[in-house]
Amino acid sequence: MSEPLMATYHRLPVTFARGEGIWLWDTEGRRYLDALAGVAVCGLGHAHPAVTAAVCEQAGQLLHTSNLYRIAEQERLAALLTQASGMERAFFANSGAEANEAAIKLARLYAHRRGIENPGILVAEHSFHGRTLATLSATGNRKVQAGFEPLVQGFVRVPYDDLEAIETAAANRSNIVAVLIEPLQGEGGIRLPAADYLPRLRALCDRHQWLLMLDEVQTGMGRTGRLFAFEHTGIQPDVLTLAKGLGNGLPIGACLARGPAAELFTPGSHGSTFGGNPLVCRVARAVIETIQAERLAENAATQGHYLLDSLRTALAQFPGVVEIRGRGLMVGIELDRPCGALVQEALAAGLLINVTAERVIRLLPPLIITRDQVDLLVGALAELIRGFLAQEDTELRPKQSGAAL
Ligand SMILES: *Cc1c(COP(=O)(O)O)cnc(C)c1O
Repeated sequence: MSEPLMATYHRLPVTFARGEGIWLWDTEGRRYLDALAGVAVCGLGHAHPAVTAAVCEQAGQLLHTSNLYRIAEQERLAALLTQASGMERAFFANSGAEANEAAIKLARLYAHRRGIENPGILVAEHSFHGRTLATLSATGNRKVQAGFEPLVQGFVRVPYDDLEAIETAAANRSNIVAVLIEPLQGEGGIRLPAADYLPRLRALCDRHQWLLMLDEVQTGMGRTGRLFAFEHTGIQPDVLTLAKGLGNGLPIGACLARGPAAELFTPGSHGSTFGGNPLVCRVARAVIETIQAERLAENAATQGHYLLDSLRTALAQFPGVVEIRGRGLMVGIELDRPCGALVQEALAAGLLINVTAERVIRLLPPLIITRDQVDLLVGALAELIRGFLAQEDTELRPKQSGAAL
């Protein structure tokens, strides 16, 4: 065997050669509707002219200098992001996991500053925070952790959307210093908490002087119909992490903070060689400016409503569909059975989707999607789900009758 790549991924048997808007073309020239956007990364779609221009202009000027020097593009992006989010200061990393690592390190510094030597960070069941050792330890999915023990200490797990569990954890321990949580869970199966969950969690954090650290790596950058998902709730986090949609395909992560959390890092306490280099920061600025100029968060809200309504209408008669839920263009269709096989069937039909938490079809289309394209997506997907459920039912029947014979 001369397989040159490590076997970290289950890859589908397709290679894409180019993209435009919500469309991708494979190396055979076949076209696909991309309802996943590289897992919530390409919010502006593929080959958006503003992104292409930013990449080309900056690549022709300067790619990298290191953080030993001032970086004008990094300062501009920090100003734009903090202004848009109500946060105060930014640290730039290269991925979602790294953005969360920075948040976790902030929580640890915050604790030690207050004389708490063995701090705990509350994290949720079914959460996903990344694949580095600290972030997989924070993640609420055993599959992500198995084989990598010993895990990083200091995470206290509670059920998602359950404030009583958090109250209990607080009553039993004096070492909690922060909560790290997704405003709605992505990998965990597009789970939305009750409308008052985040406001009440905010109040609890204030009462206990905990940092409220929101992982918006997937929900941020317009995905849920607002630039940041926390804007739906009227609260403000102390720490906010971003990545996926921030660079539209260039690797960049950000950890934003305000209040005491914004003052904790000092020279030498954290850093990254590539973090915040001129290229990624120039492109991320173009992404934000385009989201604002083209009102793409508003489009995500409008098309997201239409997508949910259309799916509910189209799938209403299917008994195998348990629930259709989501916010903006982050939508899950939960079936009553594992449906990973649907991904390959959709691919064969020219549609890119994802299945998470085994039974939840996940849609994360580009924020630029139009109403007509939503119609195309729903038409194709309803047909696939109908076929999938029917085929499973007929596969079951002969087996049962065979056993009877
Ligand atoms: C994808 C994701 C991460 C990890 O991001 P990477 O860039 O893959 O490290 C962290 N948190 C959430 C909520 C995510 O969806």
